Amino acid sequence: CGIFAAISETSVTSALVGGLRALSYRGYDSSGLVIAQRNGLQRRRAPGKLDALSTLLKEQPLEGFVGIAHTRWATHGAPSETNAHPHMTPKVAVVHNGIIENYSVLKADLESDGYRFNSETDSECIPLLITRNLDKGLTPEVALREAMAMLDGSFGIAVIFASESDTVYAARLGSPLVIGQGATGHFIASDAIAMASVARNLCMLEDGDVAKVRVNEMSITNTAGDVTHREMKALQVSE
Ligand code: GLU
Repeated sequence: CGIFAAISETSVTSALVGGLRALSYRGYDSSGLVIAQRNGLQRRRAPGKLDALSTLLKEQPLEGFVGIAHTRWATHGAPSETNAHPHMTPKVAVVHNGIIENYSVLKADLESDGYRFNSETDSECIPLLITRNLDKGLTPEVALREAMAMLDGSFGIAVIFASESDTVYAARLGSPLVIGQGATGHFIASDAIAMASVARNLCMLEDGDVAKVRVNEMSITNTAGDVTHREMKALQVSE
């Protein structure tokens, strides 16, 4: 339902929770985040209100400079901690907006290759497809592209790899995603409303785009894999 990600010079935890709060008007049943740590990707998730995630983060703090976060509105699988996003393996974590129509076919295929699902969501096939591609030796970017090519349905996703933990990839097909550039780094959101307090300039991704976003740089490739330019516009703040 809501996606917010941050790659910043300063710790991203409060920006992630703030971003989710700005998106919460859309409704949600659970929330969660993954932040890159020296020892790998670390996750916190909680069913119910965002306050539950904030409380969890007080009890089990998690700070870092790169992270992805999500508010979920369940379409496949009951609202619960296990079904909350991000979904992940030790190699990659994903937040997903939308629906993967062919997930049961993909799930059967992944399970026959020995990949185990921990949730009842359609979304979990995305990190598992990417992980299978990484296990075959593909680079993160190619592993993501090839996974996207197998998905039917609509999605906006933000992806973070353990092996490339200074980067967040954002990709869309049917669900909006916007990239913001601010004083401390770059931000990704499913709705520009979440950018108001962090970004000065914005650009919208188009269908098929994959954005590779780091603290000081950002590049976008289109469906054909060609580098494309998406115009950055100054954020209009309504008075
Ligand atoms: N279909 C996914 C799920 O049920 C994502 C729902 C959403 O957009 O929040 O987990």
